[in-house]
Amino acid sequence: MRKPIIAGNWKMNKTPEEAKTLVTELAPLVKDATCEVVVCVPFVDLALVKKALKGTKIKLGAQNVHWAESGAFTGEISASMLKELKVEYVIIGHSERRQYFGETDQTVNAKIKAAIANGIKVIVCVGETLEQHEQDETITVVSRQTIEAFKDIPKEDLKKIVIAYEPIWAIGTGKTSSPEDAEETISVIRKTIKKLYGSAPSEAIRIQYGGSMNPKNAKELMAMPSIDGGLIGGASLKAEDFAKVVNY
Ligand code: PEP
Repeated sequence: MRKPIIAGNWKMNKTPEEAKTLVTELAPLVKDATCEVVVCVPFVDLALVKKALKGTKIKLGAQNVHWAESGAFTGEISASMLKELKVEYVIIGHSERRQYFGETDQTVNAKIKAAIANGIKVIVCVGETLEQHEQDETITVVSRQTIEAFKDIPKEDLKKIVIAYEPIWAIGTGKTSSPEDAEETISVIRKTIKKLYGSAPSEAIRIQYGGSMNPKNAKELMAMPSIDGGLIGGASLKAEDFAKVVNY
């Protein structure tokens, strides 16, 4: 049995004080959640949010990490820095980072290794653009992204990784993949993991859907057998909305 995981990706939203207010409102609303609940907040919010989350079941996540342990990388944050702040999860390879900040399959792979080496669990994002979707390239793209992301990652580390399938055309657009289409692509991702690692790891790994998931569509998406949770952008910025998704 895979325990569902619902993670909020706040992107570049919420100052530290706003973040504290949001998680303080959220905590009582999700106290009976049966899934794992994570909030992935901006770097500057991490310390204050960690304090505000004490005694709650919500876990702390970041949205990016550098692959190097330290050094001349102005403006970047290392995995050991996140570890000291007790960050439990980090999103790696979000399409916005691939699109605007030059993230590649290779940097995604290096970042996953850095996070795991520091005891931080990973939510690694894969997904196709609208153009790739329209040209029927979804399977090719997500398979390649998955193979490259997992390059040289040993089987025993798989339990520290969650995959988020996020069709880029569905992110922040209000357009959602149909549950059946999401299920189909996620099954392909699972098959790719099976080819790389065998049957048991492919059955054990959790794969989320992300892309305009909200209180209205969460239930039908979560009802699909291969969908093990959601990565939630816009709907994670309001405590009530995010709680409704978590309590789907
Ligand atoms: C995301 O940022 O990962 C995301 C899925 O955003 P939204 O829910 O707003 O589409």
